[in-house]
Amino acid sequence: MGLPVRAALLREVGGPFVIDEVELDAPREGELRVRVAASGICHTDLTYRAGAGRFPLPVVLGHEGAGVVEAVGEGVTGFQPGDAVVLSYFSCRGCRTCAGGHFPYCERGYAGNFSGSRPDGSFPMRWRGEPVRSSFFHQSSFATHVLAHQHNAVKVDGSVPLERIAPLGCGFQTGAGAVLEAFRLQRGQQLAVFGAGSVGLAAIMAARVAGAARILAVDLSAERLELARELGATDTFLADEPGLTKTMVTLTRGGVDFALECVGSPQVLRQAFDVTRPLGTCGLLGLPGRDAEVSLSMTALLMGRRLVGILEGNVDPKAFIPRLVALNAEGRFPLEKLSRAYPFEAINDAVHDMEARVAVKPVLRMPGGGTT
Ligand SMILES: [Zn+2]
Ligand SMILES: [Zn+2]
Repeated sequence: MGLPVRAALLREVGGPFVIDEVELDAPREGELRVRVAASGICHTDLTYRAGAGRFPLPVVLGHEGAGVVEAVGEGVTGFQPGDAVVLSYFSCRGCRTCAGGHFPYCERGYAGNFSGSRPDGSFPMRWRGEPVRSSFFHQSSFATHVLAHQHNAVKVDGSVPLERIAPLGCGFQTGAGAVLEAFRLQRGQQLAVFGAGSVGLAAIMAARVAGAARILAVDLSAERLELARELGATDTFLADEPGLTKTMVTLTRGGVDFALECVGSPQVLRQAFDVTRPLGTCGLLGLPGRDAEVSLSMTALLMGRRLVGILEGNVDPKAFIPRLVALNAEGRFPLEKLSRAYPFEAINDAVHDMEARVAVKPVLRMPGGGTT
């Protein structure tokens, strides 16, 4: 018999989440049982709710959890019960890619993050006696308790409210990592961000930290652009403005050093690429449709421009999340301005508000989770 805990089950594609009791395994080798205090909701959760997983349901989603370690399995080093942790994406930390420090592109990353099972194919939770997919990003954090792996848990200062920093595990680290780690943007350089959701806004906050001379933001919503300005954007543009690319290139005297696509649209990627200057870099962060393709000007590419896909900001969460926590404590990465808290039971309202773009980053507060 496992430990009875509560989890939000998705039982049909596009359907509501239903909170029910499930049984959670004891931690296996390398695993930690974490009592979840809070979990952010990321766009990838919504994409999987809409059927991106193509696997049998039910599934327990959620991959921006934070909480307190309750128990550890065999072979776990560096964690003990009582530790506060932020959970991030899984990497095996043993393959060729991981050995090179490129953890987001781990050879076992797909199995460990997107299959809904552990990398070995097993499931940590049972519902009505049957195993259910419950290891999404090796956490499935839409639950009161989860099994994470020591490779995707990051120890944090226990005095920081976990509800505030829970969303650092995916969306925020993706946007901030792209600027600070993938681009290594230098003081005085220019950045353009397409899409002012949590990922794009994190990139804007990070660009301000790095001392960008100019930060351009593009979005369909005037409200989001106002928020972008508050967080550091120097120039904002509505996405449907005619002649937008030309306006941006003129304003930046020939284009920006870096552009970020945070939407996952071929048209937007083309736009982002077109506003870079010669030798500039355009990064793709948005999750595209499975068969999406893009066309580019080969002449523009030949001018030293780069186009690069970036997963999870290219960061090692074990080093980068503590860095963001420290920046937040200094008031330089105010992610709480983007968050809106919901009780766990209101998960469907939170999803609705995120889809309606009423909430930038909904954060679920687990019953009794609180802070350390
Ligand atoms: Zn690996
Ligand atoms: Zn995510």
